[in-house]
Amino acid sequence: MIEKIVEGVYWIAGKDKFLPDSHVYLVGLPDSKDFTMVDCGLMGMGSYKLGEIESIGVKLENIKRVVLTHTHLDHIGCLPEIVEAIPGIEIWVHEEEGRFMERADDRIIFGNQMFESMIRSQYTIPKGFFDFKPHRKLKGGEVLDLGGVIFKVIYIPGHSIGSIGLFNEEHRLFMSGDTVYADGAIGRYDLFSADASQLKASLELISKLGVDYLLPCHNRIVKGSAEPMIDMTVRNWSPLLS
Ligand SMILES: [Zn+2]
Ligand SMILES: [Zn+2]
Repeated sequence: MIEKIVEGVYWIAGKDKFLPDSHVYLVGLPDSKDFTMVDCGLMGMGSYKLGEIESIGVKLENIKRVVLTHTHLDHIGCLPEIVEAIPGIEIWVHEEEGRFMERADDRIIFGNQMFESMIRSQYTIPKGFFDFKPHRKLKGGEVLDLGGVIFKVIYIPGHSIGSIGLFNEEHRLFMSGDTVYADGAIGRYDLFSADASQLKASLELISKLGVDYLLPCHNRIVKGSAEPMIDMTVRNWSPLLS
């Protein structure tokens, strides 16, 4: 299922299996010929995500880049499928996780060793499966023109060390990755590279953005008036995160 949220922003809902599959957002004005995927999803979900994108008339060769909110398996798992389908596609990621990618260090991708052995027993993941060199390493603060839609990169570490969100001022629309969800939930902070006190500061930063549309990578999205919900989430979680 692909759904238009505002002009130039589309939502492709993740299809959770026994593991979660992240939502993907497609960004770019319809006639721009310059589209961006925000995150990819779980292994095996590449053709579903790309099929949904093609269903609205976007040609795959016009997808120029993937921006990763972070590099957990449920967001990056089908990146190899996407790169195979669109050979020229660029990968943009925060520098903190870009460094891990460049070293083919999988610790952030899997989060912990128990999960890694479970996954490796269920899927064939050859050595070097996620060995990609990012084309652009973000720091936070960049203003990106993504096919005519403007987003500011917001660095929000805590769920993972290189988590970012993307904020569009015009619609007060925020893609929050796994840092904050709808309905009072936040991302877990027990995995490799997570940090509760960083997460607390990131949540407080998000609550100051004045978000109207909240587009997280899992579960429900909020199409307007998200700010009170985010404020409540941050108030409830902050005392537990120090
Ligand atoms: Zn995550
Ligand atoms: Zn996730």
